[in-house]
Amino acid sequence: MTSLAGHCHCGAIRVELETKRAAADLPLRACQCSFCRRHGALTTSDPAGWLHVEAAPGSVNRYRFGYGQIDFLLCDECGCYVAATLATDAGLMAVLNVTGVGLPGFDGRVPEPMDYDAEGPDERIERRKARWMPAVFVETQPSA
Ligand SMILES: [Zn+2]
Repeated sequence: MTSLAGHCHCGAIRVELETKRAAADLPLRACQCSFCRRHGALTTSDPAGWLHVEAAPGSVNRYRFGYGQIDFLLCDECGCYVAATLATDAGLMAVLNVTGVGLPGFDGRVPEPMDYDAEGPDERIERRKARWMPAVFVETQPSA
């Protein structure tokens, strides 16, 4: 496993993507939904990898829209969209916004445009379970 590390603009939210794949072999998707377009989001995930998200206390805002199935994690301080998470029977799953955390190794890539508008709510859950990656979210404790 190698580890690709990034963080939001201010550094309050830090991420590590553990993967056996090189960054160049990971997917890079440009979701065409209204939220992702506004953020210029380019996302990646490795179903065989892991995403670790470590957030300073109170630094995460969660936003939902549409079917309200997933949480978009936004930094309360700098406003970056970091990742989206889905709670499943098998635990938390996530997709990472490469742009929002400045993940290295993706510069110059042409993203694949993705349009999920035709999907119903059940299809969306199944797609995410298949393509997203297991994730751990930790909020660090404030120093005493
Ligand atoms: Zn931030």
